[in-house]
Amino acid sequence: MALPCVVPTKSRARTAAVGGPGWRQHVEILTFVVGPLQSNSYLVVDEVSHRAAVIDPGMESEVVLETIGRRSLQLQSVIITHGHFDHVFSTGLFKAKTGADVVMHPNDLPLLAEVPETARFFGIKAPVPPDPDRLVREGDTIAVGELSLRVLETPGHTPGGISLCLGDAVFVGDTLFAGSVGRTDLRGGSLEILLGSIRSKLLTLPDRTVVYAGHGPATSIGVERRDNPFLQTEGR
Ligand SMILES: [Zn+2]
Ligand SMILES: [Zn+2]
Repeated sequence: MALPCVVPTKSRARTAAVGGPGWRQHVEILTFVVGPLQSNSYLVVDEVSHRAAVIDPGMESEVVLETIGRRSLQLQSVIITHGHFDHVFSTGLFKAKTGADVVMHPNDLPLLAEVPETARFFGIKAPVPPDPDRLVREGDTIAVGELSLRVLETPGHTPGGISLCLGDAVFVGDTLFAGSVGRTDLRGGSLEILLGSIRSKLLTLPDRTVVYAGHGPATSIGVERRDNPFLQTEGR
C-alpha cells in the first residue's frame, strides 16, 4: 500500500495538523522560475514559525531573497536536490545573506567543483558553491520550523540526487518532470538507476502527491504514473 509522504514532527498541539488533513494551512510553497535554464527555485515557508527553506537556489534569485526579507522570514536551510549549476548557482549568496545551513547529499560533492566549468559550457560565469554544512541521506529529515522534510535518495540524473517529501508534496529536482524524466547523459547519470529511483521512491507515493520538479510545471504522481511515456513499462 502506498504510504503518504509524511513525517510526524514533535507532537505539540499546534504541529498536530502537519502531515494530516489540515497541514496545508501551515505551509506555503512559493515557486520562482529563475535564470536562462528556467530552473524552479522553491521557497517552503512554515507559516506558524515564519521559518523557511530554499530548495535549489538557482540563478537570478534576488527575487527570492527579496521575498524572504519583505516577509521577515528566517531562512533555516538551503537545500540542494543535486549539484548542477542551475540548481546551486546562488548557494553562496543565500548563505552570505542569511546564514542558512547548506544541505545536500554527499554523492554530489564532486559536482560542486565542476560548477564553473559546466556553467561556462552554457556561456555562464558561475562561482564554486560553498561546502555544505550538512550532508543528508535516505530517511534523514530537515526541519523548517515546525515542518519536516524527509529525504529520499533518487539518484540517476546525478549520483547524489535527492527528493524531499513534505506532507502530500514531493520536490524531485531533475529526477521526474511533467511528461518526462531527467536526462542521464551527463556525468554520473544512468537511465537504469533513474528509472529505478522513480519506480521505488516516487511511484510508491500516493497518486494525490503533488510533484514539484526542477523545471516546468508541477504535476502529480497519479498523472505521471498514468501518462508519462517514460514510465509506461516501468513501475507496474
Ligand atoms: Zn540537473
Ligand atoms: Zn536542472
